[in-house]
Amino acid sequence: MERATRYASAMIATPAWPPRSLQRLFVDTPLAAGVTVTVEAGQAHYLSNVMRMGAGDQLLLFDGVSGEWLAEIAEAGKKRVTLSVREATRPQERVPDLTLAFAPVKKGRVDWLVEKAVELGVARLMPVVTQRSIVDKLNLERMRSHIVEAAEQCGRTSLASIAAPVKLEAFLPTLDGGRRLYFADETGGEPAASAFKSGPATILVGPEGGFTPEEASAIRAAPGAIAISLGPRILRAETAALAAVAAWMAMVGDWR
Ligand code: SAH
Repeated sequence: MERATRYASAMIATPAWPPRSLQRLFVDTPLAAGVTVTVEAGQAHYLSNVMRMGAGDQLLLFDGVSGEWLAEIAEAGKKRVTLSVREATRPQERVPDLTLAFAPVKKGRVDWLVEKAVELGVARLMPVVTQRSIVDKLNLERMRSHIVEAAEQCGRTSLASIAAPVKLEAFLPTLDGGRRLYFADETGGEPAASAFKSGPATILVGPEGGFTPEEASAIRAAPGAIAISLGPRILRAETAALAAVAAWMAMVGDWR
């Protein structure tokens, strides 16, 4: 084959548009073509001073509901940047209807758990305080910024929500059987592979010290509750949470 032809056929297709290199920024205002968006404080500082962007520079914006949009900087000040939204670049993604209910574990580990759950496509995070929880409050601001950062860096258009922590005894009565509750029970349950069925679900994982026997029986009695085993080895709480989410995504989520 002629060298030129060989090169031509080897040429990669024109790079996907928009270029992957464009910055992505979450803005908490509804986006549409022609809309002017103003960002201030940290986001303005990031664009102007850190990324040294100015008028005419382009970036991608998403608002968590209407997909992703190409925007152009109209004016870049140190404390305030105005952008005009040009056109839609990607539709709003759909994520499976999966909630991860987790007993908050120690700082650092819980940050890791939240970030990985978001990457894996969890729709919502529900911190549940149990008797053996070492941690009973959560810095929701910090958690929300992890969620936004993960979405900005991983090309996501949807944002997982995170609720304020609730006690297990307040969480269980909210269950009405409309969604399955997969209770990760380290003392034994149905193998996840056969327990997981498609449909809206919540996965519940305990704290470092596990659930008390009273808690375990209260959970098993809840409507739609199924105790699942995550294999013969005891996993750390955050490992169990991510392993269960990944297995669910692979078996009945949107990895198929
Ligand atoms: N301290 C306890 C284990 C707690 S592990 C002990 O040593 O027995 C923390 C949480 O992770 C558990 O409450 C459970 O929800 C989950 N988990 C860990 N390993 C699991 C397994 N093999 N099967 C199901 N759930 C598991």
